[in-house]
Amino acid sequence: MQYISTRDREQQFSASQAIAKGLADDGGLLTPVYLPKLPRRALEELKDMSYQQRAVYVMKLFLDEFTVKELTDFANAAYGPEKFDTPAVAPVRALDSNTFCLELWHGPTCAFKDMALQMLPHLLTASLRKQEEEKTVCILVATSGDTGKGALEGFKDVDHTRILVFYPKDGVSAIQELQMVTQEGENVGVCSVVGNFDDAQTGVKKLFSDEKLREELAQRGFFLSSANSINWGRVLPQIVYYISAYCDLVRDEKIQLGDPINICVPTGNFGNILAAYYAKDMGVPINKLICASNSNNVLTDFLRTGTYDRNRTFYNTMSPSMDILISSNLERLLYAITGENSQVREYMEELNRTGRYQVSDKVLEKIQRLFVGYCCDDTVTQKVIGTIYRNFDYLIDPHTAVGFSALTQYREETGDMTPTVVASTASPFKFCDNVLGALGETNLRDGLDILDQLSEKTGQPVPAPLASLRGKQPRFQRTEEKEHMVDAVLDMLK
Ligand SMILES: *Cc1c(COP(=O)(O)O)cnc(C)c1O
Repeated sequence: MQYISTRDREQQFSASQAIAKGLADDGGLLTPVYLPKLPRRALEELKDMSYQQRAVYVMKLFLDEFTVKELTDFANAAYGPEKFDTPAVAPVRALDSNTFCLELWHGPTCAFKDMALQMLPHLLTASLRKQEEEKTVCILVATSGDTGKGALEGFKDVDHTRILVFYPKDGVSAIQELQMVTQEGENVGVCSVVGNFDDAQTGVKKLFSDEKLREELAQRGFFLSSANSINWGRVLPQIVYYISAYCDLVRDEKIQLGDPINICVPTGNFGNILAAYYAKDMGVPINKLICASNSNNVLTDFLRTGTYDRNRTFYNTMSPSMDILISSNLERLLYAITGENSQVREYMEELNRTGRYQVSDKVLEKIQRLFVGYCCDDTVTQKVIGTIYRNFDYLIDPHTAVGFSALTQYREETGDMTPTVVASTASPFKFCDNVLGALGETNLRDGLDILDQLSEKTGQPVPAPLASLRGKQPRFQRTEEKEHMVDAVLDMLK
């Protein structure tokens, strides 16, 4: 299988080249030339397999350079019992006969980013070996909270890698920040940026296109790569769990093989829901993809009007991992829908120049056949956490609550009661203050004691990776203005 830039199809790359590069030189995203289809009996075969086996099966369709043996080793290491607290890895929980929650937060950092970031280091280091790359790769990450910790855990002490994470100083939760600044490992660095997530992400993109920096680092024996969801090695492992969820529903006789489902995804950078779209395109019977946003509802507007316009107020919400106004992976959808790299390039150039672009009616119509968009603010988010807890005795985090709000709105508006899988993207224990608030608690305990408070209130155990934050000392204190992020890179890569 060959990969091309979303903005130019002249140059083709192998999978290992695409994963090693991260981002195309022209700023586009590296994407398969075409999407493979699942063989006819695939879902039936996958139904009786473990999560690890399903991952190997699906990834092999995209990665012909990798052997089944290699992929099996990766899957066992990435999704094994040392990393995930349930053998199901990504279990599907039934709330009622047609509402299901795909729990994607059973990994080492308690957020769905682990699903991909536990796999990416294996794919990346193997790709670099195949490319006979001798320099050390330095992973630069801009994070709205969960990616940073996920990437740090995935890459810590992996040979021939360094990792440097930038997060917005005031744009992540206290626990997210503590998770990052206490990170262990000899090859890791963490730096906060004055500004919001888009500032951090734009800053990292600038570093990637900084020729002078590239030359300086090459002399020092390093090159830059990305673990953001623009890397194909991030998107691919995410396709697996949508296929897996469908297989679980069939296996557990919640649906019959062939029955349609809808998928609802709390969305930020558009990586997670893009993976669901790819699963659909590969042949999983998925009807509608419900795109859920918080008050940063640029995607809701886009899906309704065809105009993407980032010129709007940026809100810090209680679902910070979705506080994003430039959803990078939307570019891959635009390529999939239009099939025209030059058209995608024009949209992206317009976005760069003016902060907005408008797709044609034809493109919009195609998108609307696949996607619907809904959004909600923090007040509704908190109400939904309370409602789901009271009605189903089930605790969800604020991101997942945005998803449930979107699903409720969709069902009310359309009457479509197709069985729906909501992606549950983080453990509620990562956002104790807002979750406790939603449950009516006003007297919140300080620091990490709030973990016990939520545990006592709900009878649910504190996830081990969060409980172990107690007693860890911060190792990283650096803050930079966004213009000076390059200094942090040069200081770390001595
Ligand atoms: C990253 C993240 C999201 C958004 O996912 P995208 O792939 O960026 O759309 C949603 N919820 C949580 C908890 C996240 O960490």
